[in-house]
Amino acid sequence: MGKVIVVFVGPAGSGKSTLVAAYSKWLREGGIPVYTVNLDPAVDRTPYEPDFDVRTIVDAREIARKYGLGPNGALVKSMEFIAENLEAILSKIASTDTDYVLVDTPGQMEVFLFRDLAWRLGEGLKKISEQSYAIFILDASVIKDPADYAFLLVMSTAVQLRLNLETAPVINKADLAPNIEFRGDIWRDYARLSRMLKESHTLYTDMLRDIMKVLLTYNKRVEVPRVSALKGEGMEELHRLILEMGCSCGDLS
Ligand code: GDP
Ligand code: MG
Repeated sequence: MGKVIVVFVGPAGSGKSTLVAAYSKWLREGGIPVYTVNLDPAVDRTPYEPDFDVRTIVDAREIARKYGLGPNGALVKSMEFIAENLEAILSKIASTDTDYVLVDTPGQMEVFLFRDLAWRLGEGLKKISEQSYAIFILDASVIKDPADYAFLLVMSTAVQLRLNLETAPVINKADLAPNIEFRGDIWRDYARLSRMLKESHTLYTDMLRDIMKVLLTYNKRVEVPRVSALKGEGMEELHRLILEMGCSCGDLS
């Protein structure tokens, strides 16, 4: 088996870095070697020890100082530097002989995702290993009703379309929302979700219902793991999901 590369994407504060820390720890405890990559040039401190840290190439704080930029400007500039150095970063990843490579991405996902860089990263990773995937993370407290749950699936697909990597959604911070209504099996939940969306019958929920129907025809995977990166819970479920992503059924490319 070649190496498995997993890119963690999600809104600022959703728990990407914490999940990279928790999952890499879980893998290592299971005797599986892991290589961790930090691609966030603006992070203060990562909750894991990155094997490759993009801050050795570009540090958003230094860029802000050097170019007299605010935080957003510095991030955008940093992305340009990362794009320029992408080949070097990719060859670092290619040269590791670990089974798993976990890639942590910038806190603000929009600076990374809505640029060329995302697509090029996806392409580059796929050249290194066909088993390159993405995980889209949402904070459980964001998912309060059926429309939010549908939105999670829509966003996960949007990430897939930007990165061109097979992408699966994960709900993090389950410890903060133990009573979250939707869990587990999308197919089983879909009928209920669809009914609830239908009952709401607004333009928005009608649209989400139709979008969900289309997405589910492309996506045969059913489990949406609920994890707590902070507590290290749900790592087995996450791992199972990643192993299952090898099947090509959800591949839109
Ligand atoms: P990132 O911006 O997506 O990398 O998010 P971080 O990993 O830096 O996490 C942002 C904040 O959420 C930190 O204060 C974490 O401790 C917290 N956090 C991350 N995962 C969890 C979780 O599973 N449960 C709880 N309660 N907090 C979490
Ligand atoms: Mg982070």
